[in-house]
Amino acid sequence: MIPYGHQDLDDSDIEAVVDVLRSDWLTQGPAIGEFERRVAAYCGSRHAVAVNSGTSALHLACLAAGVGPGDTVWTTPNTFVASANCALYCGATIDFVDIDPRSYNLCPNRLEDKLACAARAGNLPKAVIPVHFAGQPCDIDALRALSAKYGFCLIEDACHAFGAGYRGRPVGRGCGSGLAVFSFHPVKIITTGEGGVAVTDDERIYRKLLLLRTHGITRDGFEAADAESGPWYYEQQALGFNYRLTDLQAALGISQLKRADSMVARRRELAARYDRALASLPVTTPVQGAVGLSSWHLYVIRLHLDALRKSRLEVFNALRTAGIGVNVHYIPVHLQPYFRKRGFKPGDFPVAEQYYREAITLPLYSGLADAQQDFVIETLGGILLN
Ligand SMILES: *Cc1c(COP(=O)(O)O)cnc(C)c1O
Repeated sequence: MIPYGHQDLDDSDIEAVVDVLRSDWLTQGPAIGEFERRVAAYCGSRHAVAVNSGTSALHLACLAAGVGPGDTVWTTPNTFVASANCALYCGATIDFVDIDPRSYNLCPNRLEDKLACAARAGNLPKAVIPVHFAGQPCDIDALRALSAKYGFCLIEDACHAFGAGYRGRPVGRGCGSGLAVFSFHPVKIITTGEGGVAVTDDERIYRKLLLLRTHGITRDGFEAADAESGPWYYEQQALGFNYRLTDLQAALGISQLKRADSMVARRRELAARYDRALASLPVTTPVQGAVGLSSWHLYVIRLHLDALRKSRLEVFNALRTAGIGVNVHYIPVHLQPYFRKRGFKPGDFPVAEQYYREAITLPLYSGLADAQQDFVIETLGGILLN
């Protein structure tokens, strides 16, 4: 089976992990700090805090932004459930903003309208979590302008977008007092097995992330505190978590980071090959905006169901039967039973729902060979044209 996504590991990655196994530190050793410094440099952000998953990074980002009971957080329905759950973990209420029908990202115009309504009603969101879907950046400057105007914290869910560009700068740069969150799950752009990172330029947010990652405990600043305290002294100042990444994972991340640019370049090359090869088929290929440069986490096509004699399910099953591990991203989050129980229903976000009915994710990862991709293209063509 050709999967839809796959990690890209080489011998240097394996050696980097084995070196840590032979060292004195398995967790929170020197590799963590180095990985964080390198990620911050790569993204052009002032600070980076590495944690054990992208989901943990989203949770801590919400807490650091001050999200709590009584607050509302908005995100896109076209995402993995973690983008919404992170707000619920904090006791906040979640709501959604429908997507743009071309980029499949949270629509900035709808967001602006909804913010204007919320401002009149006095129930503005505490945070908004747009997702750079499939690796294509949202219009970040427009979102930052809205964040400044309406006073919400902008938390970019950049789990798909490590290595993506926006107006010539890396995604993650210029977050200011907001944050961007990346995932290093094996199907994402680079991997640490499980893992994630939150980046920010804000010193206060950074301190909160560090504290909450390790139980709310800090050892800093007690050297001269009082006669009772000694070198053993630490304080729990907040209710935090054990969201630490291990040094094994950080070493893998450092090694992967060295190849990040070439892995993203290969994804872009494969995406361009798909674009050319699929142009004559009854599908819509991903439409790219003028100011973003996608990292191509996913390659999603939309079937022109009116022009086909097959349903999406039939096309999907035929591809799977041929050994092609296609997938669907995403079932709109508000249609999940857990969210329906909280009042959401079909028809609430029609653009995301229509997109979902037609979408299929084709295999795309840096280790995909041209010949494998050609097989995907030929097989898809055969299924759609028969
Ligand atoms: C993968 C993903 C996450 C969660 O990341 P994990 O590292 O798997 O916890 C969150 N949001 C989006 C959009 C993702 O794709």
